[in-house]
Amino acid sequence: MTGLSDSFQRPITYLRVSVTDRCNLRCVYCMPEEGIPLLPMADILRYEEIATIVQAAVELGITKVRLTGGEPLARLGLADLVAMLSPIQGLDDLCLTTNGVLLGRQATELKKAGLRRVNVSLDTLKPERFRRIARRGRLEDVLEGIEAARDAGLTPMKVNTVVLRGLNDDELLDFAALTLKDEWHIRFIELMPFTDTARRDGSFISVAAMKERLESLGKLEPYDGHNDGGPARYYRYPGAPGTLGFISPVTEHFCEGCNRLRLTAQGRLRLCLLSDEEIDLRGSLRDGAGPEEIKVLMLAAVASKPRGHTLGHGPALHECSMAQIGG
Ligand code: SAM
Ligand code: SF4
Repeated sequence: MTGLSDSFQRPITYLRVSVTDRCNLRCVYCMPEEGIPLLPMADILRYEEIATIVQAAVELGITKVRLTGGEPLARLGLADLVAMLSPIQGLDDLCLTTNGVLLGRQATELKKAGLRRVNVSLDTLKPERFRRIARRGRLEDVLEGIEAARDAGLTPMKVNTVVLRGLNDDELLDFAALTLKDEWHIRFIELMPFTDTARRDGSFISVAAMKERLESLGKLEPYDGHNDGGPARYYRYPGAPGTLGFISPVTEHFCEGCNRLRLTAQGRLRLCLLSDEEIDLRGSLRDGAGPEEIKVLMLAAVASKPRGHTLGHGPALHECSMAQIGG
């Protein structure tokens, strides 16, 4: 096998890069209301350091990079980082996951810098409910951000919706109805037990239960046009311009086909979302390691990537929050 693969012969092609642990929202399933203890700025990777690591990763076989956070658009000058990464030979896909609040004013600049696509996280279409789930920010800004991303050509734009019983599950059909009218691509995500709210009994809804409710609008036909190499399974209603995706980290974890690594904001390479095992690349870089030494460290790390996680068997307790790892 050419390229990068782990000891279970899984090809590793995808790197998620968290550019900051800061966020302008406090989503109930991701962060406590008071926020998380923040890293000192000096501990966060500089853009040049991220570029060195991404260049090394691409030389090893990574072809797709997603910028995430915290909230990536809350870090100053993100378009500068995009402009540093987009010319890297062999990097076929450079994309971003954002809460969308700051996207309206940055979409055009990001596209010009070489960003391909964005995923926007949006859990409700109701302004007051937005305040309850995200605790800060305005729904209107996110909707403006989505429009701006479309106008700038950051497409296909996908919406990520974490479904919580009693909080937004009554909007499943409203989100799905958008796909009947226009090219909306909505992905429903099972809640992962990271925060107290997320662990509380009763908030969780399985993808199977979501689908059952959604079939009241029409039969869901499998759709394989997105080819994004990710864990989502896609469907659409007959004749609909948009699609529905389902991500089931809890009931049907996708470890067998896992193709990803994560780089945390403080420069640690994380081998599995749900394993706290990390390799400190920032320390090595700041001790003078060059790209070749970073490659050696990455290869050794990939060789120790675990086979999978056990989220389906009970709650996960982790040293880091989702906002620190980047989802
Ligand atoms: N701030 C950006 C955003 O919200 O899109 C990027 C970082 S966020 C950690 C990345 C993704 O993780 C978001 O789509 C968010 O909904 C998802 N996420 C966070 N906590 C989660 C949880 N407990 N279960 C499922 N998804 C979660
Ligand atoms: Fe911030 Fe994204 Fe976490 Fe919401 S999900 S608190 S927007 S990092």
